[in-house]
Amino acid sequence: MKLDIIDHLPESLLELPATELHRHLDGPTLIHLPGRKPAPLFVSVLQHGNEVSGWEAVRRLLKGRYSRDPLPRSLILLIANVRAAARGQRRLADQPDFNRCWPGGNGAKTIWHRLFSEITEHVRQLKPFASIDIHNNTGQNPHYAAVNRIEGQRLHLASLFSRTVIYFTEPSGVQSMAFGEFCPAVTLECGLSSRVDGTDHAMAYLESVLNLDQLPDSIPAPEDLELYQMFATVTVDEDIDFGFSPDASQLQLTPGLDRMNFSEMPPGTRLATTVNGTVSPLKALRHDGRDVTGQCFRQTSSEVVTTRPLMPAMLTTDINIIRQDCLCYLMERITLSGPSVGTGPDQPQSELPETLP
Ligand SMILES: [Zn+2]
Repeated sequence: MKLDIIDHLPESLLELPATELHRHLDGPTLIHLPGRKPAPLFVSVLQHGNEVSGWEAVRRLLKGRYSRDPLPRSLILLIANVRAAARGQRRLADQPDFNRCWPGGNGAKTIWHRLFSEITEHVRQLKPFASIDIHNNTGQNPHYAAVNRIEGQRLHLASLFSRTVIYFTEPSGVQSMAFGEFCPAVTLECGLSSRVDGTDHAMAYLESVLNLDQLPDSIPAPEDLELYQMFATVTVDEDIDFGFSPDASQLQLTPGLDRMNFSEMPPGTRLATTVNGTVSPLKALRHDGRDVTGQCFRQTSSEVVTTRPLMPAMLTTDINIIRQDCLCYLMERITLSGPSVGTGPDQPQSELPETLP
């Protein structure tokens, strides 16, 4: 797999929807565009082929005033999975998840790991101003930004997109973690791919960041930021037949579960109904590998209910996503107690009274 690096926008590329890009690009492509400030902004789109808001935002931004005016800052654009985008899929069956193949990830090293390592080294040399990786998700979620370190510059970068910011350190091998080693890096989640408000939001954000001179080092004020930490992933046992309709033979997940994203579910919230004597259908694994199912859920004769206040993110009603990835992540809120926190970024305080061990 060869990395394509070009220093101009191929003619008419901006006219193409994500599904057509593969006709002009062979694979992952870096495009360098000069701007008035030389330290480039790195922007990554279409790591997941069906998450098109990033590409839509970039093409609208560049087709607008910057088709006449110079960019305020140089831009390096990564257009990632054009083959999956052609089919409207997150990834193809013969591909790994691109956003698990960046330096720092676990698992077998593939041609993709080498490619993303090459991109990382190339961009590191150019001393980027910041890095923005743009995604969509399924289910009802607010737009939010995610960071991998609690540190002033990247919290400012994140809070310019949304007051809701998520801190995560798992899964590994994600782009923002690799680039976070040498510049402020964020991941954006722009809601549903099909909706134009995600594109509008991402485009306005990119324009703002391109026009920034610098990012403050201080931790943002608490009123500018609601910070959550993902601490566990919830999956459905892979041998279980499940769904949201009464047809599911072993586990019926509660319809409309995704409406609970980013709200605190009180103890006793029903997540699913078990059928035909199914046991232990859901598993909650902490990101250090510890099983915390018993501390989060309880199974009665026919239901799985929560046993403690829990806040889910990325709960989805898409059966394929649940199979391929997970049912949801569980979060707890982190309180930033003012600028002094900047000195101890690795010990965020949680204000949830019941923090899991
Ligand atoms: Zn994604």
